[in-house]
Amino acid sequence: MQLEISNISKQYPKTLALDNVSVTLDCGLYGLLGPNGAGKTTLISIITALVQPTAGTVRYNGKPVGGRDYMRILGFLPQDPRFYANFTAEEFLRYMAAMKGLDRKTAKPRIADLLEQVNLTEHKHKKIGAFSGGMRQRLGIAQAILNDPEILILDEPTAGLDPKERVRFRNLLSRLSGDRIILLATHIVSDLECAAKEVILLREGRLLQKASPLSLQSALAGKVWLVQADETELGQYTARFIIANAAAADGKYALRIVSDEKPHPSAVPGQPRLEDVYLYYFGEPT
Ligand code: ADP
Repeated sequence: MQLEISNISKQYPKTLALDNVSVTLDCGLYGLLGPNGAGKTTLISIITALVQPTAGTVRYNGKPVGGRDYMRILGFLPQDPRFYANFTAEEFLRYMAAMKGLDRKTAKPRIADLLEQVNLTEHKHKKIGAFSGGMRQRLGIAQAILNDPEILILDEPTAGLDPKERVRFRNLLSRLSGDRIILLATHIVSDLECAAKEVILLREGRLLQKASPLSLQSALAGKVWLVQADETELGQYTARFIIANAAAADGKYALRIVSDEKPHPSAVPGQPRLEDVYLYYFGEPT
């Protein structure tokens, strides 16, 4: 399986949201990482064939995306999923199964299994209107994978999840990523650190990098520094450098700084993490 995104640009009346983006995805989990406004949702809308690009093509196994056949192999969780408040969780999944062309016999056990996987079995008769943000998100994930999609696209799926739900979700994605393409747009770096095969960094509509978390981290060797500072020095460092972390202890601060240059003669190199990569490219804490 191969999803080939070639020379995609998207011009909105006032904004060039995507500028000649080319990237090819095969089986596995990919992270799409970038700050707000980078173009993540626009790229996803083009891959899901909801929006037409101004230029460029998206092909899946050689065929342009879109149409009924493509929808059958696509799973999608939009950023702001709108559910039918008066449906129960189970009714909603049954409805979505019918929309995706699943027959009743296949749908029934599949829905039971999915409710279990996203931990909603005990709430299956509850109306969605009474769901918490996290429950709604989990239901959104269940509908996205109903048809066992070959391509699964998730736009900021962990936004409403608490840390425990986030771990559960990560494990679910790892299980799913073996035999399909998963594209996960996020600005939460820790969602990708262990799980992603590759991370795609997008800034101002342009592709900056597409590489494994490990190689992105290796490329940052010599740019992460650990240094001690007092209150006054903390202010000076903050003004001049990107501070990844400031841990206070005994009236002093242990700083983690991302910088091309050594911030102080006493600074020692730190082991780069994906969070540092994000800060290096986007210059702001997540
Ligand atoms: P992200 O998902 O990374 O936050 P978006 O793809 O939503 O980024 O937005 C990229 C840029 O395109 C932003 O400047 C945004 O304001 C603009 N944009 C997105 N959608 C539209 C639209 N429908 N009409 C006009 N401008 C848009």
